[in-house]
Amino acid sequence: MKKLENFSYTLDVELLRTLAEKYGTPLYVYDAEKMMNQYEKIKQAFSCIDKLGIHYASKANTNINILKLFKKKGIGLDTVSIQEVEIGIMAGFPPKQIIYTPNGVSMEEIIKAKEFGVRIHIDNLSLLEQFGQEFSLDYPIGIRLNPHIVGGGNEKISVGHIDSKFGISYYQFPHIKRIVENTKLKVEGLHMHTGSDILDVEIFLRGADILFDAAIKFKDLEYIDFGSGFKVSYNPGDVPTDIQKLGPLLGKKVNKFYKEYGKTLCLVFEPGKFILSESGYFLVKVNTIKQTISSVFACVNSGFNHFIRPMFYNAYHNIENISNPSGRVRLYTVVGYICEADTFGLNHQISEIHEGDILCFSNAGAYCFCMSSNYNSRYRPAEVMIYKKQDYLIRQRETIQDLLRNIVEITL
Ligand SMILES: *Cc1c(COP(=O)(O)O)cnc(C)c1O
Repeated sequence: MKKLENFSYTLDVELLRTLAEKYGTPLYVYDAEKMMNQYEKIKQAFSCIDKLGIHYASKANTNINILKLFKKKGIGLDTVSIQEVEIGIMAGFPPKQIIYTPNGVSMEEIIKAKEFGVRIHIDNLSLLEQFGQEFSLDYPIGIRLNPHIVGGGNEKISVGHIDSKFGISYYQFPHIKRIVENTKLKVEGLHMHTGSDILDVEIFLRGADILFDAAIKFKDLEYIDFGSGFKVSYNPGDVPTDIQKLGPLLGKKVNKFYKEYGKTLCLVFEPGKFILSESGYFLVKVNTIKQTISSVFACVNSGFNHFIRPMFYNAYHNIENISNPSGRVRLYTVVGYICEADTFGLNHQISEIHEGDILCFSNAGAYCFCMSSNYNSRYRPAEVMIYKKQDYLIRQRETIQDLLRNIVEITL
């Protein structure tokens, strides 16, 4: 299998070129085998833990085919909105395999989730009290705690710090306890999620201590949920979260806690990025090359309407010219066609680009398509999944009808 030198592609470059031709560009391509390998890596790393629950965080990519694939493999689902819950149910997940961890939602939405029968994580004292007053006896819940540990590679995705809107502060624990006792709520799970891109294994371990500290005070627990934050490399030099190291260290702590608690609980993780990110490739075509006084711009048939991470999070994504992979390397600034600054990559080293060439962005599986929009009235891209060596179109490219679908034309 021919691979590009700079970055480890799991798909053949010729295959990617063929797909660009067959389905057109811009195009998202996902490698199902890579997703499964990542899942296996997690299972392997935490194999010392007795009851392990892995729930894919569907907000990373909600294409129902991807959800069905995970369902088939026995992976659970983690959701953050009632619509994600519904898609999960449509994909065939049993409700108890779906965790719903929303933030800032209304009581009505929580009640809907209860009607679907999914596991609910409440992250707000007011909702906890309301839920307790109405449903305490017939519906156990989980509580999302904020352990006040700073994780996250970027302020937009760092959700565990002191001023964060996520979770109920660990310092408000006496208040949580009072509500639970007064309303006789049954607490079946404790949850924390400190944000994406956690580099340091110590962060997880400190979080674990805090969660166990709280957990020992609840008698009916079934599970403890550590959320996610497992990092993958975006840049060939990046260091991913060392889950091989984390697994045994956490395992030791967990087993010690189970002895104290008197029961083996399920240990849950909710990875999104770790499973999906590297499985995805985003293919675009170079419309024009523009040489200015200081830069060479490669202008592609896409923009932040399709792929917003570089602009929104300042994320680095590797970009290769798959039409000329062994050409002479030059510096290019890759930009989109949106009428606003939309730079995908500033001065990237890319093998010589000609107009019409296909560029491939790496790490396009998670938080890419799902954050796309119709800005500038552009169609959102098609999605293709490679499954058992076959390519399947899993989302059509949009058409003008899609742009007008919900418009109500009035007589003027
Ligand atoms: C976003 C999110 C995740 C997934 O985070 P990743 O960094 O993609 O692994 C897990 N749990 C919750 C509650 C989330 O909001």
